[in-house]
Amino acid sequence: MIPPDEALRIVLEHTPRLEAVEVPLIDAVGACLAEPVASDIDLPPFDKSAMDGYAVRAGDVAETPADLTVIEELPAGVAPTKEIGPGRCAKIMTGAPVPAGADMVIMVEDTEPAGEGRVRILAAHPDSRNICRRGEDIRAGRTVLDAGHVVRAAEVGLLASVGRDRVRIHRRPHVAVLGTGNELVPVTETPGPGRIRDSNSWSLMACCRRAGVQAKRLGVAKDAEADLREKIGPGLQYDVLLVSGGVSMGDWDLVPKIFDAFGVAGHFATVRMKPGKPTVFATGENRIVFGLPGNPVSTLVAFRLFVWPAIRKMMGHPDPAPPPVEGTLTAAMNVRGNRTAYLPAHLRHEDGGWRVEPIPTRGSADLVGFARADALVIVEPGTYEPGASVQAVPLEL
Ligand code: AMP
Ligand code: MG
Repeated sequence: MIPPDEALRIVLEHTPRLEAVEVPLIDAVGACLAEPVASDIDLPPFDKSAMDGYAVRAGDVAETPADLTVIEELPAGVAPTKEIGPGRCAKIMTGAPVPAGADMVIMVEDTEPAGEGRVRILAAHPDSRNICRRGEDIRAGRTVLDAGHVVRAAEVGLLASVGRDRVRIHRRPHVAVLGTGNELVPVTETPGPGRIRDSNSWSLMACCRRAGVQAKRLGVAKDAEADLREKIGPGLQYDVLLVSGGVSMGDWDLVPKIFDAFGVAGHFATVRMKPGKPTVFATGENRIVFGLPGNPVSTLVAFRLFVWPAIRKMMGHPDPAPPPVEGTLTAAMNVRGNRTAYLPAHLRHEDGGWRVEPIPTRGSADLVGFARADALVIVEPGTYEPGASVQAVPLEL
């Protein structure tokens, strides 16, 4: 048995970062940039009004009220044709270029009409010029996003602003998911005696979606060498293969043996954690393989702790395994045995710190309890009083 931290270190050490590919902008959402991106233009590209109002010379409105002559109307997208001379101004809309001569925009709320072609400026604030200066956000040629940056909605907007309709990202892994177990029936069936529904192949598919990668469900294999071999073989064509069940000490837990038969190199098979002890990690050429424990909660915990960081590393994430958060327990806990426990918890922020509330659980098959959790509290065996400081892993999945 190796400690969970050591297991994570081994996983990350043997997980490749995938190559760069060019994709249409919108397909980059959730991926990491494979190269820095520079702006092709100044942003904003011209001195731009931040308000609907009047473009004026600040000197003309040093004292208010002040009546000015309106010489032009400037909607967004229209280039000014006239310079603003003393005693003059232009009506201007948000986003329109500020005309030469003007150095301030008075918002329309601080004005009133003053007869044909005239406006009365009622108030001016020297500190709010209401002009976004050309290049004040970024200068042409300067880097706007570094390599490794995760592309979210803001980044897509920014990339669009700097003229990128295609971007280079790290390729996302293709993942295959296989359930195993003679006892498993499809979701659409009512389980007969001794049977249960296959839930892991679906929850693992969901994990992949939540991690931003495509997964292929390979179905469920029987606990029989021939069937396992038939389904694991094609699974090894993927960047990541996730097999749930069949990895513990039972007579029908054949998965590690099949991995061996296919020649993937095993790195560990048991981790000193609860749940999740029988977690298998192996690698082939440019691919990684996990045998995850069959219990529905165990499989999700092992995914979060080991598979999620591995997928993030493949995607080029600069911080594939962010550290746990520190918090204080809201209730007593008692953990027996000799393994690090990862138990369902609820995290909330209160008085400047995280409160970690353990959630009642009936163990590693109890998806009902687990579905209420948004974190895992990490506790070594021992007794903990309310207020004890603990670490917790947010469940992003
Ligand atoms: P195993 O790791 O194969 O020994 O399975 C441990 C427990 O998890 C057993 O109670 C299995 O019935 C259950 N289990 C295994 N695979 C699945 C699955 N795909 N969906 C739901 N439960 C499962
Ligand atoms: Mg099984």
